[in-house]
Amino acid sequence: MKIRFLGSGGAFDFLYYNSSAILEWKGEHILIDCGNRIYSRLCELGLAGLPDSVVITHLHDDHAGSLVSLLAHHIYVEKSKSPLRVYYPDEAFLRLLRDFLSFSVRPIAKYANFLPLDELSGAQSIDTSGRHVSWMPGRAYLFQEGNEVLAYSGDLGDENFLFEKLKEKGMAGARVFHEISFDPEAKSHSYYKDVQKHLADFSIYGYHCDPRDKAPDCRIPLVAETPGLCY
Ligand SMILES: [Zn+2]
Repeated sequence: MKIRFLGSGGAFDFLYYNSSAILEWKGEHILIDCGNRIYSRLCELGLAGLPDSVVITHLHDDHAGSLVSLLAHHIYVEKSKSPLRVYYPDEAFLRLLRDFLSFSVRPIAKYANFLPLDELSGAQSIDTSGRHVSWMPGRAYLFQEGNEVLAYSGDLGDENFLFEKLKEKGMAGARVFHEISFDPEAKSHSYYKDVQKHLADFSIYGYHCDPRDKAPDCRIPLVAETPGLCY
């Protein structure tokens, strides 16, 4: 299980692209989120043809804003005979994805091969709806291989929720990629001081932030400054 980030910025951290990663797992390259700067980032890196499948944490522009471009690239530029696989956590989330894509492309089946996440043995989602923003459906994703567990938070705005869920599942010790903020006033993101309380039980990496804002007393390693974690 290998993860590498295409970007680790927040919605307005232009220099650090959008938070998004490619997980190499069970012979498949799974793109986690595809925000507005990610399709162009994939093209810059020569990787636009690499993802085999996609999962989306939520439908904010910095997480799904260039998904349509990537799906269309797969058909028109890569000339793939079959659309990219898009794994969905449940039927309600599938309806959202369909609605979202249908404003740009139809028939949707030409562009996205929707499959239930259950088909990815070892993958799970955690419903984080309403935590980042009250009305926004959201999911965190977990990937397990043997004793190794990798968790990807998406935007949460809750410093404890994902860690508590992981403990309930007996997954203390997991490698957790968690969004963090250095702004104590931020309501829709997780303040680093509260996230780092969980360092005793988990291996945490912070993303969705500008590393130049990192507070001196932040003990969470940031994705952007960790060798080997970014393209
Ligand atoms: Zn975001």
